[in-house]
Amino acid sequence: MKQVAILGSTGSIGTQSLDVIRRNPDRFRVGVLSCGRNVELLERQISEFHPQIAVTAREEDALTLQKALRESGNAGAGNRTEVLWGQEGLKTAASSNACDLVLNALLGISGLAPTMAAVEAGKDIALANKETLVTGGALVMDAVRKAGVRLLPVDSEHSAIFQCLEGNQGRKIRKILLTASGGPFRGWSRKQLESVTLEQALHHPKWSMGKKITIDSATMMNKGLEVIEARWLFDVPVDAIQILVHPQSIVHSMVEFEDGSVLAQLGNPDMRIPISLALGYPDRLESGEAELDFFDAGSWLTFERPDPEVFRCITLACSASRAGGSYPVALNGANEVLVDLFLHGKIRFIEIQEYLERILDAHVPEYHLTLEKILQIDQEVRQTAAQIARKVG
Ligand code: NDP
Ligand code: MG
Repeated sequence: MKQVAILGSTGSIGTQSLDVIRRNPDRFRVGVLSCGRNVELLERQISEFHPQIAVTAREEDALTLQKALRESGNAGAGNRTEVLWGQEGLKTAASSNACDLVLNALLGISGLAPTMAAVEAGKDIALANKETLVTGGALVMDAVRKAGVRLLPVDSEHSAIFQCLEGNQGRKIRKILLTASGGPFRGWSRKQLESVTLEQALHHPKWSMGKKITIDSATMMNKGLEVIEARWLFDVPVDAIQILVHPQSIVHSMVEFEDGSVLAQLGNPDMRIPISLALGYPDRLESGEAELDFFDAGSWLTFERPDPEVFRCITLACSASRAGGSYPVALNGANEVLVDLFLHGKIRFIEIQEYLERILDAHVPEYHLTLEKILQIDQEVRQTAAQIARKVG
């Protein structure tokens, strides 16, 4: 039986991971659960899964939760959930004996240090939190190699690529074909993007996800972040990764090999499929997913080029990755702040990419990054991004 930590268990990926575990009770035991602000849901999850450790983002929430658990009788012999908080709490939980596999579904750079702690403690990782690799790719991959642990992608495209590469280790890849739904503004002009509303941006045509990644999908920054994620996971240069807009979201990505053969992974757009594979690997679990109907609609396999001039975030992410050093850290930190400002009605949609470009142009890169250095640069970039948005906006 696998002992699993679900970091970010109250989010979109977290709750879907618990769905998969619920369907497979004989395979998994949940050792760790964690929330950001949604303590109520965490409490319900604790009473269902009885983890050894629960983590909240804030200390005051941890104290409230501890009290509530005591009052509800959770402290009974052999059934006690220890409550921790903050980044330290996540690191302690992810490296503890409460888990041997850590599914990281945290949001943004808050996922980086817990991933590192888990890898260094010899835990296998099921990684949804792409910002871990965007900000700390070199560091994390090096630690994964040293620790000899498995890093299993949860992101649907990367899960597809991972599956295409199975049994093909050592074979030369010509390119990775990374598919994108295109988001709600597929085919729009730059002019049209100027009047996008929050409601429009939050309405993704294919996937139901957390707010931050939904906005990243609308700007197509999500695809830029995924290029960087793929670059680290599969050790390929950015220029060997081609983005294909595939609005039906049935082909989750492909790999073209040296001999011209292209392998693809297909499936209905449901995150429970890649989550099941990452949790159950090397086995495949029964997911309850409906069969893929090939006769459903005659025209569903279409592919288009994205427009890198309209969706500037793709161009900015690829350039940041090519430039290396702290550029991807700056890209990620600034993007997190700008998306949050847009979600709170403080800047316009188009300004996300405009401000991002300015911030990256002004960024003075640093190299040979340690975890501490990455976190420090992230903090500095966040301040710069907030200042620029205040001044210009
Ligand atoms: P959500 O916003 O739905 O969930 C994020 C989770 O992390 C929640 O449990 C949230 O807690 C918690 N959290 C947020 N900030 C912090 C923090 N500072 N400290 C501790 N916990 C925190 O996001 P998603 O599930 O959509 O995405 C999670 C990750 O997976 C992202 O990196 C995303 O890019 C990636 N991903 C998501 C996909 C999807 O379909 N949703 C697909 C592929 C990748 P709370 O809600 O309690 O505040
Ligand atoms: Mg994806």
